[in-house]
Amino acid sequence: MNIILMGLPGAGKGTQAERIVEEFNIPHISTGDMFRAAVKNETPLGLEAKSYMDKGLLVPDEVVIGIVRERLSMDDCANGFLLDGFPRTVPQAEALTATVKELGREINHVININVRREQLIERLTGRWICPVCGASYHTMFNPPKEAGVCDKDGGKLYQREDDKPEVVAQRLDVNIAQTQPLIDYYSAQELLRDINGEQDIQVVFAEIKSLLRG
Ligand SMILES: [Zn+2]
Repeated sequence: MNIILMGLPGAGKGTQAERIVEEFNIPHISTGDMFRAAVKNETPLGLEAKSYMDKGLLVPDEVVIGIVRERLSMDDCANGFLLDGFPRTVPQAEALTATVKELGREINHVININVRREQLIERLTGRWICPVCGASYHTMFNPPKEAGVCDKDGGKLYQREDDKPEVVAQRLDVNIAQTQPLIDYYSAQELLRDINGEQDIQVVFAEIKSLLRG
């Protein structure tokens, strides 16, 4: 079972990824982990990637896809894999399609966890922090007993710059614009499976499971 998992920040992708790899016993392949491993193991491609990163440059697609290919060729991917955070662009997606084919395999599902922009903004802007003890609250998931006040010490909660609505909205819109061409690409290939990510975590997972078992 070869799966790509997509979802905007705040959609709950990480949570679902953990559950999927456990349920189906396949490795969770995230771009970050893959890069760190390649650099740490000093593979030729890892060293090449590092030379770009050290200069603060974007690692070119052919290096990225080379690292992905190495990773997907490893024994633990024999029964499948869950790709998370890759591909990010249509050229990367096309290269991935070709690479997977060369390995004699195919992508079976592209799961897209769908959450409306307004909902994502609400999730992503809910974090408030206590300046006294550092405790972190969330207006939706873990609210303080009294709004704006720390339960433990009465500290006046504040928001990090990164968690403020205008910053979050801007970051999200960049992400949405970058993701849309990929959604279109995989829709055209009839691989895209939309899942409503606004439901309970358990319900979202149940739907993913039945889709993958289907
Ligand atoms: Zn506090």
